[in-house]
Amino acid sequence: MTERVVIAGAGLAGCLLATLLGRRGAEVTVYERRPDPRVAGAERGRSINLAVSARGLAALEQVGLKKQALERALPMHGRMVHPVGGGAPNFQPYSADRERAINSIGRAELNAALLDAAESTPGVTLRFSRRVTGVEDGRILLDGEPGERARVVLACDGAYSAVRGSLDGIGCDQDFLEHGYKELTVPPRADGGFALDPDALHIWPRGTLMMIALPNLDRSFTCTLFWPKGDFTALDGPRKVRAHFEAHYPDVAGLMPDLEGDFARNPVGSLVTVRARPWVQDAGGTLVALVGDAAHAIVPFFGQGANCAFEDCIEIDRCLDGTGGRWDRALALYQERRRPNTDAIAGMALDNFVEMRDRVSSPLFRARQAAQHALERRLAGRYMSRYELVSFTTVPYAEIPARIRRQNLILGAAASAAALAAGTALRAAVRAARGGGRPAR
Ligand SMILES: Cc1cc2nc3c(=O)[nH]c(=O)nc-3n(C[C@H](O)[C@H](O)[C@H](O)COP(=O)(O)OP(=O)(O)OC[C@H]3O[C@@H](n4cnc5c(N)ncnc54)[C@H](O)[C@@H]3O)c2cc1C
Repeated sequence: MTERVVIAGAGLAGCLLATLLGRRGAEVTVYERRPDPRVAGAERGRSINLAVSARGLAALEQVGLKKQALERALPMHGRMVHPVGGGAPNFQPYSADRERAINSIGRAELNAALLDAAESTPGVTLRFSRRVTGVEDGRILLDGEPGERARVVLACDGAYSAVRGSLDGIGCDQDFLEHGYKELTVPPRADGGFALDPDALHIWPRGTLMMIALPNLDRSFTCTLFWPKGDFTALDGPRKVRAHFEAHYPDVAGLMPDLEGDFARNPVGSLVTVRARPWVQDAGGTLVALVGDAAHAIVPFFGQGANCAFEDCIEIDRCLDGTGGRWDRALALYQERRRPNTDAIAGMALDNFVEMRDRVSSPLFRARQAAQHALERRLAGRYMSRYELVSFTTVPYAEIPARIRRQNLILGAAASAAALAAGTALRAAVRAARGGGRPAR
């Protein structure tokens, strides 16, 4: 493979892909619109930490970064649900296997590790503070000016991809939630310890005003508010902010000394589901493909966006293997294989919002989850909850909804059969009690 490849965006997907392609012998240039974040510091306004699970770790392992990532991660073995009214929080394990955890990892640190890996791969060149704005006549455009010639351009430039936007042949639906997000900080306690249990992803399910918190290595927590955008603006002053938190999140309000400052300073981000069609286009002799959020940004409620973007990169590498390095065939195959999966996780991520903000606090939900874990233990490998399949396996996302429906049908049938058998046994016992087993007249 000697064709020149340009990657737009040195985020999570762009760096992983550059490393994989460099290792195949490709000449890859990665253009990133920001300055080098390892020198200039991380950009504000993105989530500070990410939950990385089985899929992301499997991808990182391919470039030798899994061990390093886990060493700098904090495992979260379950959700800690903080009830309305401030009672004692309850811990809900994510898996029947108590060893299994999702991992809280700093975005900036993960990005830096991936940048280092890409930079040290022969054939890969990183160029910072250069914005790719399109593709024309076999060349990329950098801030509208013709740049280098490229046979292949891989758009890893995020949910609001400029490369995607520059191509007439690519349609794109962007569904924005009414909710936005804002990050706040719970600093370490005065004695340097964590102010909340670091082994959990904390949730304050408050209907439409949900908050979550993930631990950081410096013993702080990053809290994220997921609120309708109008509710952020309604709290238009420090007193209102403090009063709101004391009323609705009383167990954490006292742990946030700079709550009012954070609330005023930190931006409100948007939550969008992106569905681009098609992902691959021949733009005047240059093959362009969308990867990661540029193709399929999803809402963050299953913690899968980055995991899913990493899987895209692995799939492209696999498709190049399977097609003898023929980019046209490999990219067509990549799109065919990945799209059903990304459509599936987009839907599951939206569903999980309702689960996190409403259902996790219900006793019925907890009983159902305990029953699911009991089944997982009894029917190891044959019964798995949706959470287990999404977060702790690499089963293709597209197979999960059908598998869950099948499991539910079998369980429903088994429960009916058990109820029927119990009814028959009960009737027989009643008959026996009434007189020797003959039907009562
Ligand atoms: C609040 C929130 C929480 C999240 N939590 C999780 C989580 O817990 N787990 C998880 O797996 N995912 C999570 N995600 C999703 C995750 O952040 C994304 O799916 C992931 O970052 C996608 O990676 P990417 O490389 O495709 O895009 P990005 O990470 O957005 O990277 C795009 C890169 O391209 C650069 N760029 C943009 N435009 C240009 C241009 N024109 N030219 C050159 N460079 C450009 C950007 O500066 C950036 O470096 C979360 C998202 C949000 C918003």
